[in-house]
Amino acid sequence: MAVDKMENRVRKIIQTLNKLYPDPKPFLNFRTPFELLVAAILSAQCTDARVNLVTPALFRAAKTPQALLKLGERKLMAYVKSTGFYRAKTKSIMDASRMLIEKFSGKVPAELEQLQTLPGVGRKTASVVLAQAFHIPAFPVDRHVLRVANRLGLAHAKTPDNTADQIETTIPKNLWITLHMQLVAHGRKICRPHPKCGACSLLPYCPEGKRRML
Ligand code: SF4
Repeated sequence: MAVDKMENRVRKIIQTLNKLYPDPKPFLNFRTPFELLVAAILSAQCTDARVNLVTPALFRAAKTPQALLKLGERKLMAYVKSTGFYRAKTKSIMDASRMLIEKFSGKVPAELEQLQTLPGVGRKTASVVLAQAFHIPAFPVDRHVLRVANRLGLAHAKTPDNTADQIETTIPKNLWITLHMQLVAHGRKICRPHPKCGACSLLPYCPEGKRRML
C-alpha cells in the first residue's frame, strides 16, 4: 500500500509520531544479529534496560553460537539470572546456538519462518531480529505496541499476532520498522497502561483517548 492511499487519520498519526520521535532507536543493545537474537530471547518478561545491563559482560565472554556452547549452561545461567525465567532462557539460548550451528552454518537466518524454528523464538522475537539486525520490514508487537496500536485504532485486535497481521495489511511496508519503535517509545512515555491522554499530541486522532477524555 502506498502512503497516499492511507486513511487521513492514520496519516496524521504517522506524521505526529514522526514529529514526536524523529529518530527512534532499537532499545536492545547489540552489535551482530546473534547478539540481538540472544538479547531478544532474554527480554521476554523482562525490561530491555535490565537486558542491556546483563549483555555486555555476557558478550565479552561469548558472542557467537560456538562460544556460547563452549561457555556452557552453568556459566550462561549465572550471566542471565537477573533477567528472570533464567533456566528456560538459558535452555533456549543453548538450543538455539546448537541449531544455528547444525542447520544454518552458525549464522542467524534473515527469514521470518526460519527464525521461528529456533527454540525460544516466536514471531515477535523473529520480527525484532529481522527488522533491527537485518533492516528487513517486519512489525514486532510487544505489550506496548499491542496496547498503543489498538488504542489508536491502527488495529482492532486482542492478540499480538492479529495486531501484526492488521498493521502489515494496512500500513505501507517501508513504515513498519520505524512505526514499531515509535509506538514502543510512545507506550513507555505517554500511552502507558494508565495513559496521559491530556498530554498526548495524538489525542485528536485517537478514538480511545477521546473516549477517555469525555
Ligand atoms: S490519546 Fe491517550 S490513548 Fe490515545 S495514544 Fe494518546 S495517550 Fe494513548
